[in-house]
Amino acid sequence: MAAALAASREGVTVLLIDRNHYLGGILNQCIHDGFGLIRFKKSLTGPEYAGVFINQVIEDKNIEVMLDTMISQITPEKRVYGISRSGVFCEDAGAVIFATGCRERTRGAIAIPGSRPSGIYTAGVVQYLINVNNIAVGKKAVILGSGDVGLIMARRLVLSGVEVCCVLEKLPYCSGLPRNRYQCLEDYNIPLYLNQTVTRIHGNRRLECLTVSGVDEKGLLISGSEYEIACDTLILSVGLIPENEVIRQLDVSIQPDTNTIIVNQYLETSVSGVFLCGNSLHVNDLVDNVSDEGELAGKWAAAHVLGK
Ligand SMILES: Cc1cc2nc3c(=O)[nH]c(=O)nc-3n(C[C@H](O)[C@H](O)[C@H](O)COP(=O)(O)OP(=O)(O)OC[C@H]3O[C@@H](n4cnc5c(N)ncnc54)[C@H](O)[C@@H]3O)c2cc1C
Repeated sequence: MAAALAASREGVTVLLIDRNHYLGGILNQCIHDGFGLIRFKKSLTGPEYAGVFINQVIEDKNIEVMLDTMISQITPEKRVYGISRSGVFCEDAGAVIFATGCRERTRGAIAIPGSRPSGIYTAGVVQYLINVNNIAVGKKAVILGSGDVGLIMARRLVLSGVEVCCVLEKLPYCSGLPRNRYQCLEDYNIPLYLNQTVTRIHGNRRLECLTVSGVDEKGLLISGSEYEIACDTLILSVGLIPENEVIRQLDVSIQPDTNTIIVNQYLETSVSGVFLCGNSLHVNDLVDNVSDEGELAGKWAAAHVLGK
């Protein structure tokens, strides 16, 4: 939305497409506060922050919004193919900005051995189930990963009546913001165990128990340190990966050591007129920075369209 509004301010018409049936992306499920401290100098919830932009987008005559629409393909000529409720369509664009966000690393990505019972979720999925759909996920949970999403979900689960046994972190320090450690764990007496990780999952139909092992300073498991925690829910908060499968259909240059897409100072990829911003470029802690970056991408994409 920040990119669309910035491009519109430069005088180009914009088609804003999202596969969700609402605007705002991940913000809609983040009902805690702490958004907009830099941009608006106040602490908004995610939906409130999104709402500021939604109101501007709705009023902007240069922006057309298409929801429930999945972009599946793009050609180097900037022909974009999508699928909506009315079928497959294509649009030719002067420039395309990808702001497709990120997705979560799963159990498969970190290869935890054991059986495959129900009760294992990523943190964002649980956040969506509880905050958007009002669905309970379990009774007794362990959270793996002490990043901000894991810490926020620890508090959210306690507030929704789940017993949170602990947060486990393989690093020797908490990786989330200090404010989240205090407000989400210490205020709710949730223990944080550092240098520990889950090494086996037990359970038949539903998760019954986890084996937890100590991790040394080199990141190796400490033999003999294993112990078990009985629980019915494991929440994985073990990292986010930029979502950019569609843009990779183009011959965009990739940074090999990070496997991320290279952009120049105008946030333009190596394919002329194709821009990338937000969490699909690199994962951001603060939405304020995502909005700033979106505005730059919108401004430079408009300059491309206008031949400047
Ligand atoms: C749990 C959590 C807590 C956070 N807490 C804070 C906080 O307290 N303070 C703060 O400042 N920031 C916080 N953040 C960070 C911030 O909210 C995000 O970094 C930011 O909102 C990401 O914006 P984005 O536009 O890059 O991605 P998203 O919001 O993920 O938007 C991407 C959009 O692209 C759409 N999309 C993807 N692929 C396609 C496709 N092929 N076709 C059509 N549409 C597609 C998706 O549907 C989605 O709507 C938090 C994030 C999370 C996950």
